[in-house]
Amino acid sequence: MSFTSLGLSPFILKALALENYSQPYPIQKEAIPVILKNKDVLGIAKTGSGKTASYVLPILNNLKSTKTLKNRHVKVLVLVPTRELAMQVEDVFNTFALALPERVKTMAIFGGVSINPQMMGMNGVSILIATPGRLIELEESNAVSISEIDTLVLDEADKMLNLGFKEEMDRIFALLPKKRQNLLFSATLSKEVENIKELLLNNPEVIKIEEREDDIELIDQIAYTVEESRKGPLLRYLIKKDNLKQVLVFVSSAFKADSVANKLCRNGIHAVSTHGKKSMNSRSESLRRFKTGKIRVLVTTDLLARGIDIEFLPYVINYELPRSPKDYVHRIGRTGRAESPGEAISFITPEDEHHFKIIQKKMKKEVRVVDSADFDMQGC
Ligand code: AMP
Repeated sequence: MSFTSLGLSPFILKALALENYSQPYPIQKEAIPVILKNKDVLGIAKTGSGKTASYVLPILNNLKSTKTLKNRHVKVLVLVPTRELAMQVEDVFNTFALALPERVKTMAIFGGVSINPQMMGMNGVSILIATPGRLIELEESNAVSISEIDTLVLDEADKMLNLGFKEEMDRIFALLPKKRQNLLFSATLSKEVENIKELLLNNPEVIKIEEREDDIELIDQIAYTVEESRKGPLLRYLIKKDNLKQVLVFVSSAFKADSVANKLCRNGIHAVSTHGKKSMNSRSESLRRFKTGKIRVLVTTDLLARGIDIEFLPYVINYELPRSPKDYVHRIGRTGRAESPGEAISFITPEDEHHFKIIQKKMKKEVRVVDSADFDMQGC
């Protein structure tokens, strides 16, 4: 099936071809025709499923002329939990908006950076992507109005709630016009997400994209048993031996992320750590440089894992195992995304063995285990 049968305009179809999007992903196949008909949607799908384009394409397709736009009155509001996601979503809007015959101005706003440029940049914006806190600040200073939007999108609603944005979200909902289209996306359907669905959505089409079994099948998983004190040399040994590039390393704390990255650098492997204790600017800069291949190894904690959208990530290394099997699948999942196979490597200390057995049982997949004791790690 191609995109042509979904009802999108020739402008968007042309842009899809330019971006090498040849076939719609399942969520796109289901959501695009429904959103084009202005219906509400509840999409249960995780990052990596193609959910962003599933709402960006029909929203752009349906966008009314911006010529009559009242200044600072946006038409589309996308609420997201993090700055990283705000920037990614803006990127997707910009990529496809370029194809439209009329210029469409989009903007991403988020906290942690100066508010003034965001206030000044709001002129003529029709599509606004925002984290809740910063949106309220800008609204309260009359820099933007959301009282006349046509479409509201809540992206990663579960994460927004987990991050404690509930109160801000309620304040935002109270400012919206009664008549509008609502699109709610979430990786999970929790009680809180159900509540938002009840509150906001009007007879929505529910689209649930099951996590595909073969996502896991695509990934080559291997585990190395290793003593805690030998993890550093093993990491360097593997990176050097197979000349690994674009490696995402997971650890369990910000402190550990810094120390692992520093050790790699001291041993001549270009590595950077990124975690919740770093500034917003530093986080997005590291991510950008990692994505473009300028950083060889990015060492991170689970906090940032979800927002990282990289089409092809060949290597994920669990330097430390996550506590929950769900997080394990989440971490390694990104190596098998967008139809690209990848390799997920886990370091297993004697203390981890029992926990790793549980992870494998939950995942319903046995992982090949190799003893690293015989590796010649001299010089690593
Ligand atoms: P998302 O779940 O929206 O974060 O998308 C995951 C990745 O898949 C992004 O890098 C998109 O550029 C890519 N993508 C989304 N839809 C398609 C498609 N139909 N064909 C090829 N790549 C796609």
